[in-house]
Amino acid sequence: MTATSSDAHTLAAFEGRPAGAGVEAPDPVNQPMIRHWVEAMGDENPVYVDDAAARRAGFSGVVAPPTMLQAWTMRGYRRSMEIERSRRDVGAGGGPPDALEELFALLDAQGFTSVVATDCEQEYRRPLVLGDRLRATSVIDTVSPEKRTALGPGHFVTTRTDFTDEAGAVVAVMRFRILRFRPARRAPEAQPTGDAPGELHENATVKEPEEPRPLRPRPAITPDTAFFFEGAKAGKLLAQRCCNCGRLRHPPAPSCRWCRSLEWEPQELSGRGTLFSFVVVHHPQVPAFDYPLVVGVAELEEGTRLVADVVGVEPGDVRIGMPIETEMRAVDPELTLPVFKARTAPAAGGESG
Ligand SMILES: [Zn+2]
Repeated sequence: MTATSSDAHTLAAFEGRPAGAGVEAPDPVNQPMIRHWVEAMGDENPVYVDDAAARRAGFSGVVAPPTMLQAWTMRGYRRSMEIERSRRDVGAGGGPPDALEELFALLDAQGFTSVVATDCEQEYRRPLVLGDRLRATSVIDTVSPEKRTALGPGHFVTTRTDFTDEAGAVVAVMRFRILRFRPARRAPEAQPTGDAPGELHENATVKEPEEPRPLRPRPAITPDTAFFFEGAKAGKLLAQRCCNCGRLRHPPAPSCRWCRSLEWEPQELSGRGTLFSFVVVHHPQVPAFDYPLVVGVAELEEGTRLVADVVGVEPGDVRIGMPIETEMRAVDPELTLPVFKARTAPAAGGESG
């Protein structure tokens, strides 16, 4: 890599600069949008739809679900495409791009061309009530120095969006963080972890074995999820069972979504089930994985669903409804994850191969 690394000073100069134009909410906070949202989310809290219930709970009337925050100022697809087009026109005409565009262009030029969203934090200062009209104003909050990550070296870029009401008071703050990274080159002779995919590159005769394969991105391990990964390491597929109503749930959550109980215990599952859905991922390619990568959702015998890689089956042969079994696989020295394999069910013949 011949490009010099951006010095910290150049990048820090972007902090505090506006990230795009502010956005006015096209509509005030309103009951119909809230009603559709809570229905889609399955949120039955009455304070979002019932004025009397909201008053009993200490509010001045119906409030909006805090997590709807961004919905109020979203532009919609058509407007976003118009902005995208006008940005390109401005770029072509030599006009000044906004600071975020400028920063991304600088990082692109340094080879940090890939992007992944890493986290989003929202802070709610007061409940939003019917009639509130929001405005969202974004600035570049921080640009990190170069960091080594599992995906490759990169810079974390955090954008801060202040949501203000008509009086100009900040009602919520969102910090949205992405990683702009230089993709590590895919190790050509990596150990296949299952079914070795066919040769993918037209220039595959060049072998460059010097770069070790990076580890997979780490899963988010929290007090609620740690048991799952510890179980996997011990070769067990575990799910949470509610101690109050007895229902199984996955992915792990702090409380039971049926009875709200916080008490749960791990239960070992058989790992057998059927494939409910799947995707075959070709792009974007993250160096720790083999492509094409088959990722499936299985419906397990016990009734919960699980997402895992499907291994040992040609992508073209994967079928919804196929019987699967789960196996634990050490994907690297620190991480063991479940994978799905085809389960041999008695079949009435079929071609060999
Ligand atoms: Zn329960």
